[in-house]
Amino acid sequence: MLVVMEQEATPEEIERAVQAVESRGFAARPVPGGHRVAICVLHNHGSVEPSLFLGLPGVKEVIPVTRPYKLVSRESHPTDTVVRVGDACIGNGTLTLIAGPCAVESETQALTIAGLVKKAGAHMFRGGAFKPRTSPYAFQGLGEDGLKILARVRRETGLPVVTEAIDHEVFDLVEAYADVIQIGARNMQNFSLLRRAGRSSKPVLLKRGLSATIEEWLMAAEYIMEGGNTRVILCERGVRTFAHHSRNTLDLSAVPVVQKETHLPVLADPSHAAGRRSQVIPLSRAAVAVGAHGLLVEVHHQPEAALSDGAQSLYPEQFVELCGQIRPIFKIFRPDGIH
Ligand code: PEP
Ligand code: MN
Repeated sequence: MLVVMEQEATPEEIERAVQAVESRGFAARPVPGGHRVAICVLHNHGSVEPSLFLGLPGVKEVIPVTRPYKLVSRESHPTDTVVRVGDACIGNGTLTLIAGPCAVESETQALTIAGLVKKAGAHMFRGGAFKPRTSPYAFQGLGEDGLKILARVRRETGLPVVTEAIDHEVFDLVEAYADVIQIGARNMQNFSLLRRAGRSSKPVLLKRGLSATIEEWLMAAEYIMEGGNTRVILCERGVRTFAHHSRNTLDLSAVPVVQKETHLPVLADPSHAAGRRSQVIPLSRAAVAVGAHGLLVEVHHQPEAALSDGAQSLYPEQFVELCGQIRPIFKIFRPDGIH
């Protein structure tokens, strides 16, 4: 960590900051620069809380150097984590396609879409039984009936199912049915839910929060890993920006950054980033080109009648088109990774 002093900091203020560092058991090395002094904090094991020094007189800013996350960090685990789910596997040289409707609406709807996406090449089926909706009047999901439908989809298609646990109350139930438990963007910093996910034996798909920094996202993953669950899959789903031409802005650069920082696999969700289907195929191409380990895509056989996120759901034939377009892109840099 670096404690950067104001240009006009007095020698007494610098000395006081040095003493504050030393009083915490660390070593302090003041390094004079052209205009100001920066104090290097040494001998700390792990990250140091910046607020310990931020309020001291003469301190301009505190720059952390050591990463606050450990278990998710590539430093602690240099090789890529591969998460196996049934016949599917996420990470390290494969391209995993998870597709399905936003919400499970009926048995016929789920089985129809599952059959179509499986035929097109999807490796897993997605669909919410409990939906986090902005409005309390909007369709909230079928609950346990939806989970039972997902179990039937798995039985009939062999596809593992991904579904969201929206709170602590439903976690056990979702865990009993799901192959992968999704923690949604709105819950990315629901720390008690993350701790519960950390005690689960099922893999967890952790979406990036609507306005979360990469560090906050990785710290959320750290909560899950700290609880003992090492099967964490990250998913970039767009963050809120000033743009109105899409629902969110897909942060493509997050993919290589996360791959450098952590060993965990990272997917992209172009559907919730775009909010409209016309952008989903182009964003999918870009996400694969940037190195995502897979995609989470919303598909509906009758999107105009969908009970949630119809506008961003691809028609099944568009999903077929998407699969056809992304495979050659992926093959350019991972020739053996298509399965
Ligand atoms: C979803 O996957 O249907 C969903 C609600 O996603 P997010 O949490 O990214 O908004
Ligand atoms: Mn959705």
